[in-house]
Amino acid sequence: MGKNSIDLFYDISELLRLFEKTMTIENFLYSVVELIATHMKSDVCSIYLYDENSGQLILTTTMGLSEDYTGKVKLSPGEGLTGLCFKEGKPLLVMEGQKHPSFKLIPGLTEEKYNAFLAVPIIRSMIPLGVLVLQHEKIGYFQETDERTLSVIAAQIAVAIENAKLILEITHKKKSHTHITEVEESFFLKGSAGSSGIAFGHAVILGKRDDAFTGIPKGKSTSLTLKDFERALGETLLQLEELQREMESEFSEMVSLIFSAHLLMLGDTAFSGRMIDLIRKGTSAEKAIIRVINQYIDLFSSDPNPRFKEKALDVKDIGHRLLRNLQKAEDEPGDYTGQIIIAYELLPSELVKLSAQNAAGFLLYGGGITAHIAILARSIGIPMVFCDDERLFRIKSGTCIIIDAYQGTAIINPGKEVYDNYQTMQNDHKKIVKKRVSGTTFTRDKTRIHLYANINLLSDLKIAIKMKAEGIGLYRSEFPYLVRNELPSEDDQYRVYRKLLEEMTGKEVSLRTLDIGGDKMLSYLSSSQEANPFLGLRAIRFSLKNRNIFSTQLKAMLRAGEGFTLKIMFPLIASVDDFMEAKNIVLENMETLKANGIPCNNKPRLGAMIELPSAVEVAHELAQQADFFSIGTNDLVQYMLGIDRTNETVCSMYTHYHPAVFRALKKVVNAAKEKSIELSVCGDIASEPFFIIFLIGIGVRQLSLNPRLLGDIQVQINSLNVKDAEIIAANILSMGTTKEIYGYVESIL
Ligand code: PEP
Ligand code: MG
Repeated sequence: MGKNSIDLFYDISELLRLFEKTMTIENFLYSVVELIATHMKSDVCSIYLYDENSGQLILTTTMGLSEDYTGKVKLSPGEGLTGLCFKEGKPLLVMEGQKHPSFKLIPGLTEEKYNAFLAVPIIRSMIPLGVLVLQHEKIGYFQETDERTLSVIAAQIAVAIENAKLILEITHKKKSHTHITEVEESFFLKGSAGSSGIAFGHAVILGKRDDAFTGIPKGKSTSLTLKDFERALGETLLQLEELQREMESEFSEMVSLIFSAHLLMLGDTAFSGRMIDLIRKGTSAEKAIIRVINQYIDLFSSDPNPRFKEKALDVKDIGHRLLRNLQKAEDEPGDYTGQIIIAYELLPSELVKLSAQNAAGFLLYGGGITAHIAILARSIGIPMVFCDDERLFRIKSGTCIIIDAYQGTAIINPGKEVYDNYQTMQNDHKKIVKKRVSGTTFTRDKTRIHLYANINLLSDLKIAIKMKAEGIGLYRSEFPYLVRNELPSEDDQYRVYRKLLEEMTGKEVSLRTLDIGGDKMLSYLSSSQEANPFLGLRAIRFSLKNRNIFSTQLKAMLRAGEGFTLKIMFPLIASVDDFMEAKNIVLENMETLKANGIPCNNKPRLGAMIELPSAVEVAHELAQQADFFSIGTNDLVQYMLGIDRTNETVCSMYTHYHPAVFRALKKVVNAAKEKSIELSVCGDIASEPFFIIFLIGIGVRQLSLNPRLLGDIQVQINSLNVKDAEIIAANILSMGTTKEIYGYVESIL
């Protein structure tokens, strides 16, 4: 008969090893039956598990019978052929099942056409756990040798089945328990705001990267057919291709096919073809999608290569779109319109992809407001709230949610009144037209303050121009690296930098060299995992260690700067030595370009970002070498306080209002003044009302901030007197505790 039992034993032991790692239980059980059916060349393979509470055998997984009946077919011991095998505790081999006196027909299960029947009990330490069943169309198909093979297999998988059964029971209990509280329970979650705005929508649970994909259940749609699936597949492909085109024109720095993995997978017959196979064999279209998506999630997340692990979320994303396209009415979009995404963590590229598919907002577990994912959300202009409350993962798919990213809160299942209030609030926010009054900013007593924009994506440029930014104080050059699958080439980078300089012609632009590491990892590069990435190979340290990558970027910047005033700054400078090493590499690259006759900027101004306490201490010496300083307070505060700004357990202790922070700022400003070099502040405090007063009070005259806030900040500055600000700054600098500072701040704001 050509059944392949040696390979089967081998594959089963492989499968058992995989189970130890990451597989979801449902997928594990399905993989077991699929493997056995394939090797035994059987039409059907099913597992029935015995439920002690109800005293019944339950069809738990099947390949070949209607999958809609899993969990629904229940047999008492002794009932039907399967029940008989279980009751007697020994194999049952029947040539023509339907002629057997114990045969029991279950309508809809599609068993009618199968004649040969072979069942063996699954027993562990004398305790019967369930039954493994094979069925085949051909009368007398199974032989005694098959009976022996299947018995050995049943013994081999018994331990794993016992564990699977335990986990299934626990999750079912948990599900039925949470069901009561989940369904209509309305609750409030307090977190922190990652970006601003209010969003309404229905929950889509992406959970952890390797959590199983469940899709959004839609009551009556199990009748969807192969034709429906093929239509959904075609629509999905078209939509993603269109989206890819839109992305290329909107975010030209991401030209490297951001949806390439999606498109490749959809086109792969092993992926969509597998779904089609399952549907042909009687699985409903929805279940076929969910099953294959979960198999791929297991496959990717069990891979040791982080690049593959990351793909798990892409797979869920495809599953979501396929299902939406399958279930939707004619004119509904297949994307995340009207949906709020709940996830454990997101990569910048994933945020871009999900936002491009019209997600209404994001509710993320943990994180911190200065994490890069939040910085990106602000650039994209999408509401995002971080929350470290475990109840986040009790929210059911489809639940109505409001996220208030002004307050950093989320309301789950809001009542009508709350919903209406938020609608009004959102409309009010929309009505406040934030206008930039003028391109130049003065305090009330006529001191000139320069307002620059922080740019993360090229799409921020439009806003910066509209808001009359005087230049770009910080371009975070890592974003094109973060949202791609590979390093951008020198030309790719040249185009981005050139566009920034051209759009800002006549204005100053500070390009920051690559700042990766810490919370910004490039999975396509990182070969070693660091125990403390924020203290590891980050920012300029990475560039100095990876000269080729650094030189490629510098050449792109120098070429782009030809004919413009070019400022280049280095992140996370720890010492004068770091700065000099980086400066020399710039000069070397400039010489190489010139020697090759390539036009470039030959007088770039080079700056140091002050983000480390060590840089504060050597600010005087640094000021002798650098052309300018840019204070990155987001990092400076985290390193002064020793608090990881993205670690949810400590990020609430992250505060700028620490006496050491104020004193450090003053020290750096003094050093820059003494050596007459330019200084600007580009961390988030540059848009905090109290800090603006303090910074102006200690002599800062340049601020660089989110361009969307430029109008508001200008209005605040217009109402300030430098003299008053100086008094306030002096008072703050005399204080020794955060409590005292908070009290003072409250009294004057
Ligand atoms: C900072 O640290 O303040 C800063 C501007 O850099 P980033 O937030 O990109 O680390
Ligand atoms: Mg920084």
